[in-house]
Amino acid sequence: RCVVHWFRTDLRMDDNTALSAASTLAAAKTAAGEDCSVIGLFVISPQDYEAHLMSPARMDFMLRSLKKLKKNLQKLEIPIWVETVEKRRDVVGRVLELVEKWGGKHVFANMEYEVDELRRDEKLILQGIERGISVELRQDTCVVPPGTLFSQASGKPYSVYTPWFKTWLKYLRENPYLLDLPAAPSANPRSTATTFADLFCQPSPTNPLPLSEELRETQLTLFPAGSRAAHQRLQHFITQHLPTYHKNRNNLTSNPPTSVLSPHLSTGTISARTCISHAYLANKNSLTSDPPNGPSVWISELAWRDFYRHILVSSPWVCMNKPFKPHFASIPWPHSPRKSAALLDAWITGQTGFPLVDAAMRQLAAQCWIPNRMRMVVASFLAKDMMVDWRLGEQYFMRTLVDADFASNSGGWGWASGTGADAQPWFRIFNPQRQMCEWDPKEEYVRRWVPELGRLDQGQIVSGKGLQGEKARRRLKYPEECVVHGDARKKAAEIYKTGLEKGK
Ligand code: FAD
Repeated sequence: RCVVHWFRTDLRMDDNTALSAASTLAAAKTAAGEDCSVIGLFVISPQDYEAHLMSPARMDFMLRSLKKLKKNLQKLEIPIWVETVEKRRDVVGRVLELVEKWGGKHVFANMEYEVDELRRDEKLILQGIERGISVELRQDTCVVPPGTLFSQASGKPYSVYTPWFKTWLKYLRENPYLLDLPAAPSANPRSTATTFADLFCQPSPTNPLPLSEELRETQLTLFPAGSRAAHQRLQHFITQHLPTYHKNRNNLTSNPPTSVLSPHLSTGTISARTCISHAYLANKNSLTSDPPNGPSVWISELAWRDFYRHILVSSPWVCMNKPFKPHFASIPWPHSPRKSAALLDAWITGQTGFPLVDAAMRQLAAQCWIPNRMRMVVASFLAKDMMVDWRLGEQYFMRTLVDADFASNSGGWGWASGTGADAQPWFRIFNPQRQMCEWDPKEEYVRRWVPELGRLDQGQIVSGKGLQGEKARRRLKYPEECVVHGDARKKAAEIYKTGLEKGK
């Protein structure tokens, strides 16, 4: 007898709503005299990874986290079975087959809100009913579950962050239990070791998306995986950076002033609930402060993660390669496919001739992670300066980031390109030179990632003086600026307006 918990983007043992519920049910059955074990299941679905542009760095992080999870679960005699299912259409059938094979009648899982995943779970529930298996899905990944908040004025879901955030805070204050952590699972009955002996000795799964040796080394150093590493990072952040987060979070220092918990939050080795609970405590049991301080601003940043998941549920077309504002689907991108491809290539390889953009794109290629400010700068640059369809950038981020997360990435690109959930459409254009003056005034970041500028005197990059003229750039072996930034606002306004009219 068993209860199965299907792990997805919740690779942790503690503070896991569905796993906790699975364990409670199994314990109740055992108490009633029916030895009942919890079995963990994880499905590797190569076709899904291909369709969803899974990045090898995220895959690597996920498998490393899975290994740690397996060890932790073993301490409670809970086995975890990892199954590779080549065709995505076979996933549900195979899961139910395994549950039947293990003598289970119950499957628990935490909900995922992307359209494909919702469809998969609908199939799971329906086919489960046919086979006499009950499927229980729990809300876990957001602090406030999607589908809960509606604008009082219109009765519709929100489309702009600020009013949504006010309601989110109010809802959380009125329902403080949402920050309570679910109970940790209890140990399986002793009989599990013999009844399910073969599940404990499964060899490591094959990685369908292996990383290059060099990148793997970098990932191991920069992003230790598993829940323990996540909690260590959280503690370090809380003591070292949280108090000054509101002032420093955009600074481009070599030791990031932010939590760098995003790979953990995307893979679920830590929950947003745990992060917010800690910030709440650090803020003397408050979610906000006036004036804003480190913990309150960090909470508001974590809320963006909830916000974009709420958007996914209220506007599911964003999962289908369509902008949040559908009338922006027809922007007439001005370049030929060839020119677009050349510009995209310059952007990806960090050869645009704009030091800050190039630094960020090279960091992204080398580390599979960049700070939030840099994500905004390079996304705005691709969509509004280069005028390349922002969806190509969105896809590149998904295929590259170690923390790639569909909702946050799609939301971030929508925001930066002016087609998303934001009150400002096309006229927010980041000036890469000004951004560099503001966030990298000592040129540490650009010099680290664009070493060919190292021959310039201090201050010459930020002032732009060292890069004036073709000759200077040729001497440094650094490319000419691929576009004229000064024209961006006018041109972006033109094409976005045309897109708007076409889309009406
Ligand atoms: P912290 O500043 O410490 O914040 C803590 C956590 O809050 C983050 O880990 C993240 O989970 C959440 N968070 C913070 N800011 C945002 C935000 N603007 N939107 C959503 N969640 C946020 N984040 C991803 O996790 N995956 C992505 O694929 C992703 N793609 C992005 C693409 C673009 C174009 C932009 C502008 C932003 C994107 N973000 C994405 C959001 C944000 O940049 C990262 O979450 C953040 O930089 C991660 O660093 P951190 O963990 O140190 O963040």
